[in-house]
Amino acid sequence: MRRGTRDVAAGGCRRARLLGPVLALLLLIAGVAITGFIAAGLRSTQRADADRVMDQRTAVARAAVLAETGRYQALLQAVAAGAGTDDRFTAADFQSATAPLRAAGLPGATRVAYVVPTAPEKIAATQAFWRGRGATGLQLVPRGDPEEHLFSIFAREMETDGPATAGVDVAASAEATAALNEARRTGRATVSDTYVLLRDRGLPAPRQQLSFVFAAPVYTPGGDPRFRGWIVLGMHGQDFLGSVLSLASQGHLDGALLATDGDGRRVVVAAYTARGTVDLRREAGFPVANRHWTLITGANSAYLPGARTSLPAIVLGGGLTVSLMFAGLVYVLATGRYRARDQVRVATAELREAEAEARRQAGLLGAIMASLGDGVGVVDGNGAFLLHNPAAKALLGMELDADGPDRWQQHYGLFRPDGRTPFPVEEMPLLRALHGESSDGVEMLVRNPSRPDGILISVDGRPLDPSAGQPGAVAVFHDITELRRYENDLAVFAGVVAHDLKAPLAVIRGHCETADDELADAPAGPAVAEARATLTRIGYAVDRMAGLIDTLLAYTTSRDAPLRRHTVALGPLVADVIHGRTAHLRPGDTGAPDVYVGPLPSVDADPDMLRHVLDNLIGNAVKYVQPGRGARIDVTAAEAGEGWTRIEVADRGIGIPDEDKPDIFESFHRAHTAAGYAGTGLGLAICRRVVERHGGAIGVTDNLGGGTRFHFTLPLATEPEPAIEPEPAAVEQSV
Ligand code: ADP
Repeated sequence: MRRGTRDVAAGGCRRARLLGPVLALLLLIAGVAITGFIAAGLRSTQRADADRVMDQRTAVARAAVLAETGRYQALLQAVAAGAGTDDRFTAADFQSATAPLRAAGLPGATRVAYVVPTAPEKIAATQAFWRGRGATGLQLVPRGDPEEHLFSIFAREMETDGPATAGVDVAASAEATAALNEARRTGRATVSDTYVLLRDRGLPAPRQQLSFVFAAPVYTPGGDPRFRGWIVLGMHGQDFLGSVLSLASQGHLDGALLATDGDGRRVVVAAYTARGTVDLRREAGFPVANRHWTLITGANSAYLPGARTSLPAIVLGGGLTVSLMFAGLVYVLATGRYRARDQVRVATAELREAEAEARRQAGLLGAIMASLGDGVGVVDGNGAFLLHNPAAKALLGMELDADGPDRWQQHYGLFRPDGRTPFPVEEMPLLRALHGESSDGVEMLVRNPSRPDGILISVDGRPLDPSAGQPGAVAVFHDITELRRYENDLAVFAGVVAHDLKAPLAVIRGHCETADDELADAPAGPAVAEARATLTRIGYAVDRMAGLIDTLLAYTTSRDAPLRRHTVALGPLVADVIHGRTAHLRPGDTGAPDVYVGPLPSVDADPDMLRHVLDNLIGNAVKYVQPGRGARIDVTAAEAGEGWTRIEVADRGIGIPDEDKPDIFESFHRAHTAAGYAGTGLGLAICRRVVERHGGAIGVTDNLGGGTRFHFTLPLATEPEPAIEPEPAAVEQSV
């Protein structure tokens, strides 16, 4: 039942989700349809406008061509009428009669001429007659056939208004002859079929153009008109049409002028091309003199003023854009809720995942903390505990809930290792870490009601890593009570062992000395001398044995014995060590060392351990010399950074080979140069342990000019030196 309800709900949800896109699509389709409809309407209106404009333009062009041809004929007829009335028509009369033609600025007109017919046998008489009437340079040339000649007598250039060559026989052109004959026959102006004018036949082909002539017959006036000749006007068809059409259409119409010739064929008189591809065409016919001409016009509606606007394109573009935007808006609004819900769902899932991961990490961290044997405590910048593990609580014997660092000492019962001095709050590792200072192995005694016997703990403190995002400090501590107890037991054991081993040796040494004293009083002899030498060797062996025991003891205590630091004046300590090493020698003895001790500061160190260090180094300097030579030893001090001093012990002895230098501080390592010198290889290992337990460092270099230079650092004393005498040497280095 519940599942059914969920399915229905899911179906409803799906339908609701589909509603947005469907609505947007419908709106888009409707928008596109309406836009297309409006644009198509506008386009068809525009088409009708273009047709109308084209009709108007064509009518204007037709009227212009018709008017121009009519004007030419009228002017020509006027000239012909004038020529007919004058019985004595001279060259000067021709010039004045044709002057209006020139003034009329007829486009395409090339030449106007007065032409007369002449039979071949009358050529000479005609020439003489017209020369008498002012025709200059008239040279009529017979053709050699019996046909009638049609000579131009007077001529005038229309383009340049200059003198024109007369005497041309128009009969050489069949088209012109036909037009002239028809004019004579009908008594009216005629227009010829198209041909290349006689005057242009010498021109190169591209410059030749189809032309025609208008011819008006010249008759005498009155009741019995007599034919005299023709006024003939040559026309370049292309120039004529180009000029008329460009004026009439302002460069927007293509045009072609076709004349229907005598045989009914349509001949192109001229063509004129406007810009653009032609998409509108019109044809208009009209009479020109005795012929029927046709004007074909064409135009590109894009360039035809008033025929086309960019309105449909704008409407289409704008409509589509608006439709798209509107559909998009509807889509965004309709689906926004679902998208938001999806985003929330994804974000929630991610959040849940992150939360689970964080919980897992926290669980892991908690498990690690719980399994740690060491106590861990974390405090914030104010010293309030953020975190502690069960081991911390178990070690301290109570919850880590003291209010602030000032109360820690009292709350947890923290003391110095002596068990009496309350641990100073400013030295607590956690507080030092809050001030950015790390500390290691700080020992303190914890004694409180839960820990009445007290436990010794060692604490490491560190500032909290910056990745924690807040200031704080972390401390790790562990119980070292058992360890210290073991160490003390060991020290006691070592002391006992040393004492028990050394006691028999002391007895042997005593007996040897007694026996030697007694032999000293016995009468001298080889046996007595031999016995005393043996006693001396036994004494040396006993000393070496005692020295070895001391060294082993020092080796152990240098690592395990607790440091008892005091202010130690280095000068007296060094003097005492040197005294111990050289007391048995008298000045001037071979092997007596030449020692220089510079000014030495007071240091903060365990005096017994420090004595071991100086004794080992000075003892080695005395020992490792070339046989038969005395040692030369310099003991000096220099600054080694704030609060530290660097002590150097230099000698002029046998030196240490470079390959041995890295190892001589290791236990039992001896350089091969030490063969023949007594030793255990433990002295420098003890020195390193002691120096490092004081926080310093030890090293060795060659002494410039020969020998060895040892150096080590120690903290300078901060408190005034106590007025106590240095104790005598506790450990004798075997030399
Ligand atoms: P050892 O008991 O052999 O002297 P040390 O640990 O004191 O042991 O010294 C280790 C080795 O370092 C020596 O065996 C010796 O080879 C070398 N050495 C120490 N001090 C000097 C020195 N002042 N001159 C030359 N060699 C030295």
